[in-house]
Amino acid sequence: MSDYDDFIARVKVLSTIESIGGLLGWDQETMMPPKGGALRAESLAFLSGLAHARLVDPVMGELLAKLGDAELDEGEAANVREVRHAWEKATKLPAELVEEIARHKSLALQVWQEARAEDDFAKFQPALEKMVELQCRAAEHYGYDDNIYDAMLDNYEPGMTVAQLDPLFAGLREEIVPLVKAIGRCDQPDMSFMERGPFPEAGQREFSLRVAAAIGFDFDAGRMDTSTHPFCSGAGPRDVRFTTRYDESFPFGCLYGVMHETGHGLYEQGLLAENEGTPLGKAVSLGVHESQSRLWENLVGRSREFWEHWLPDFRETFPHVGDLDLDTIHRAVNRVHPSLIRVEADEATYNLHIMLRYEVEKALVNGEVPVGDLPQFWNSRMEKYLGITPPNDTQGVLQDIHWSMGAIGYFPTYTLGNLYAAQLWEATLRDLPDLSQQIAAGKTAPLLEWMRSHIHVHGSRWEPEELVQRASGVEPGAEAFVRYLKGKFGALYGLA
Ligand SMILES: [Zn+2]
Repeated sequence: MSDYDDFIARVKVLSTIESIGGLLGWDQETMMPPKGGALRAESLAFLSGLAHARLVDPVMGELLAKLGDAELDEGEAANVREVRHAWEKATKLPAELVEEIARHKSLALQVWQEARAEDDFAKFQPALEKMVELQCRAAEHYGYDDNIYDAMLDNYEPGMTVAQLDPLFAGLREEIVPLVKAIGRCDQPDMSFMERGPFPEAGQREFSLRVAAAIGFDFDAGRMDTSTHPFCSGAGPRDVRFTTRYDESFPFGCLYGVMHETGHGLYEQGLLAENEGTPLGKAVSLGVHESQSRLWENLVGRSREFWEHWLPDFRETFPHVGDLDLDTIHRAVNRVHPSLIRVEADEATYNLHIMLRYEVEKALVNGEVPVGDLPQFWNSRMEKYLGITPPNDTQGVLQDIHWSMGAIGYFPTYTLGNLYAAQLWEATLRDLPDLSQQIAAGKTAPLLEWMRSHIHVHGSRWEPEELVQRASGVEPGAEAFVRYLKGKFGALYGLA
């Protein structure tokens, strides 16, 4: 066996462990009875410890050292590069800390679910304090140059730093805040058809499933279930599990949640089977992942062309909306208004929700705000960025699952995803001049093919910024997104 073959065999074992963990995590959110939590925490901690031990095995270190000098092709070199990055991170963390984090994740998740249901931040506070402390300990082990938060960002978008994000976010805010204000002075969309509800759960489920299948999700290689917070995970590219949730007074939460998670699922299903179990067969970053979900949710799903095709089906599924017309639904699903819940926010205000979380996280991990003051900090930032104050913590600081899972540094990838999506969209419009007509005719296969060949099949062959640059022909930035927002909402709201 060559060194490279030995290396790949070990990498595939790691992938198998990850795949089992993915399934247990999915089950925890969708199927597990409440009393199963403690055992599940133990099981996940065990798997996490097992994977860590396999990764930091001295033989892996020796193989990586030997392969550093070996003659490898581009794909093989990418596999070595990605595993070396993970290995370097893992060797910096003591095994006890890895297990402690995994165990605390499962417990904190349960506490968060209860605290959110009961609107009781104090209940979540000790679990969050411990999570912040654990993540800061991990960050100190990883090391960083400027800001401890950089070490956390790197877990989700390799190489990203506060020094890059601060100006990027400040620049975006300068464009978005005046746009949202200008829109606020315009005539607002007619939402009266919503009062003709309810929109039964069964109808929402069936309609969303039809859309997910039509845009290319393979239900022989995945499934859809229900959970508190929608997500997409699973055992691997041939077994992708995504979830949604239902609100019978508001059908678009489910629909766009499904289109979003389907976008993630399409990326997973587009990874090449021949590379399964290796970095070449895995998504490259959360930012790129989010570009795929946002693309299908917003650039496709909230376009006039999408509704040209789907409105008749929607009217048939929910007959009480009567003669709801194309202009009305198009304006309704693109209504811009400051709101409390991130996952339901419109495209224009969404990134303000992310900036708020970015500020909160930076302040928390730098010890500038104690966890106990978070509800107050949160509410004051909501007032500053969006002009509204949450009436309770369930609709405020307790709304997101991320912190209970230890995912600090994750939120900025959502905004990066929005920026990448707009950039890829401009590139597809250039390559596929009749894309709009195709979407209006219900034909999204050419768009999916473009994403398959430019993004999905490459897995982690190149780092995120290089991948986006190669695919779009432009260096990643905010320009395409700002052009898209101004163009779309300028036209919708009749702004000059
Ligand atoms: Zn997402």
